[in-house]
Amino acid sequence: MSSFQVKIVGDFCNIRCTYCRNRDFDQDTNVVMSIEKLEKLFVFLNSLPQAQIRTNWHGGEPLLAGKRFFSHVLRLESQYQQKMWRNVVQTNAMLVDDEWAKFFHDNNFLIGVSIDGSEKTHNSDRINVAGRDTYKEAMRGVEILRHHDIFPGVICTVTKKTVRYAEEMLLGLVNAGFKDIAFNAFYNTASDCNGDTYGLTDKEWLTFLIEIFETWLTLNDPTVHVRELDSMLAWTKSKSANSCVYKGTCHQWFVVDYTGDIYPCERLGRTTHFGSIDTLRTFQDLMDTPVFLNWKESIVQLPKKCQACSLQSLCHNGCVSHRTADEEGVPLYTYCESRLGFYDYIMRRLGGKEVNNHVTQKQFFVGIP
Ligand code: SF4
Ligand code: SF4
Repeated sequence: MSSFQVKIVGDFCNIRCTYCRNRDFDQDTNVVMSIEKLEKLFVFLNSLPQAQIRTNWHGGEPLLAGKRFFSHVLRLESQYQQKMWRNVVQTNAMLVDDEWAKFFHDNNFLIGVSIDGSEKTHNSDRINVAGRDTYKEAMRGVEILRHHDIFPGVICTVTKKTVRYAEEMLLGLVNAGFKDIAFNAFYNTASDCNGDTYGLTDKEWLTFLIEIFETWLTLNDPTVHVRELDSMLAWTKSKSANSCVYKGTCHQWFVVDYTGDIYPCERLGRTTHFGSIDTLRTFQDLMDTPVFLNWKESIVQLPKKCQACSLQSLCHNGCVSHRTADEEGVPLYTYCESRLGFYDYIMRRLGGKEVNNHVTQKQFFVGIP
């Protein structure tokens, strides 16, 4: 099922995370997708073959688009009643007030927030335009959401600066009341990868994952779900995971910029351009473009290591944005060894026992990169 992430305010953001992959683009200019473009987007989305359409309203910071923008979203959804619309907003929570929270609650939005672990680890990278800490303000927004019975999932980015604090990051999130947690290993796709001071090595990520797993076992709380653990636990039962990163479904994930331009996943930068909602009237038009067909073919190429790997049918060479060319020039998943190592670790650690976990892979993280 295809998913669309819509950058309704382009890269415009009210904070300046030090690692942000949008740093190569303009984060200062106040832009919002026009209502005319939004209307074209709905014509395009309505052409998707699937009955349920999940739209991820994104940015920059999507709340900067304002409440009026979202009321147009609802108007258009009611105009295209033949589809089941599912709205997801990924926010830094800084702008959440009672009015936003009530709106999200009343209209059944799924909300994800970005909090990078404990107050200390969060504030080491997630700073505002003036360079000040953002944790308290972001958590104030989270509390307002909870007050309105919205219990957001959390995406936590892990960088070289924070990777040593796995236990602290997980406990920080759990103690702050989060139950649905996803960790993203930061790997810079924006600018100079080799000079990147934030990207994790394969070994660092493996150590982090093991520490998260051990901390989670000690917690012994089946209501706490960690995407990386749920995904790997599903694999240990030979089941496919839900997250694209663990599933090989990049070709189903698209970004629409506020200009109407369509790209593959945000993590892949903007070097591959599929076209625009101004010229591609239907989803099938997009599927038929030579750019899309060539790109789709290129991402399913497997290096020799994957071809011989017992996890290949589950892993599919990992996240496309996290691949680097091997000696034969075929890109291999950068975190391949941590994937193999973490799988082995869990298998040995559990010794075939079931863990006290329902492996539900909560709805929020389905397909969220
Ligand atoms: S674990 Fe490594 S070798 Fe196996 S499929 Fe994934 S990326 Fe390829
Ligand atoms: S696997 Fe990676 S590149 Fe592919 S859709 Fe997911 S996050 Fe994006």
